[in-house]
Amino acid sequence: MNIATATPTEIDTLLAELYRRQGASDAAIAQSRRAIYRALGNRLASSRQRITLTDADVAAFRARIEGDQMFRGRHLHALEAFDKATAALADVVAEAAPLHAEYDRRPWSRFFLVPGGHIHSSMHCSTCNRNGKATAFAWLPEVSGQTEAEAVAAHGSVLCTSCYPSAPLSWTDFYEREAERKAAEYCSGSGTTDWEDGKVRTGFMAGNGGYCAHCGGWAGTASRSSRAMRKHKPAKG
Ligand SMILES: [Zn+2]
Ligand SMILES: [Zn+2]
Repeated sequence: MNIATATPTEIDTLLAELYRRQGASDAAIAQSRRAIYRALGNRLASSRQRITLTDADVAAFRARIEGDQMFRGRHLHALEAFDKATAALADVVAEAAPLHAEYDRRPWSRFFLVPGGHIHSSMHCSTCNRNGKATAFAWLPEVSGQTEAEAVAAHGSVLCTSCYPSAPLSWTDFYEREAERKAAEYCSGSGTTDWEDGKVRTGFMAGNGGYCAHCGGWAGTASRSSRAMRKHKPAKG
């Protein structure tokens, strides 16, 4: 592939695969670092505990592997896994560099989908990656270089309003429309205490509820002790 003449989709398809490989290498490095951390005599309280392992620690571990047969027999695999993943990550970075450089030379539109969420123009959107947790993005290289309208046509009206501030409302409002549609399915009496004639049975093991003043149908209470009406579909009348 000639990078200078490649399409945005061609370049981003490669980058999306490199991004996936980078994630795998990052995970493998993290795993082997934890193995090294433990091999050095540190305890891990849980599988989520953050560890601090400096370059000097790794160098000390490497030196011990070389000088101590017993230690080597038990922990060589951790060092090998660490070296392999580190080399794989370096390969990814090297392969991606000219592709990133080409994007910097002639930037194009990009689209990243958060599964079950919105489409963002980059993986650095301020509405994502909250609470120190990295958001999982699916790169959509097939719409790279295309307009927001084309991305909406391909993936639905789920554009992030923060990433696409000038996008028309109808390109961003899928979830709002879904919520409205869902709310419209329920009787407006849901959640209220609008019982017919103010009569409601509560506090019993079963059969709590009454007749809804909005739709006339029978509705349960939200819980045994609650007087609020459970969410319900309007009675057909
Ligand atoms: Zn965004
Ligand atoms: Zn009702």
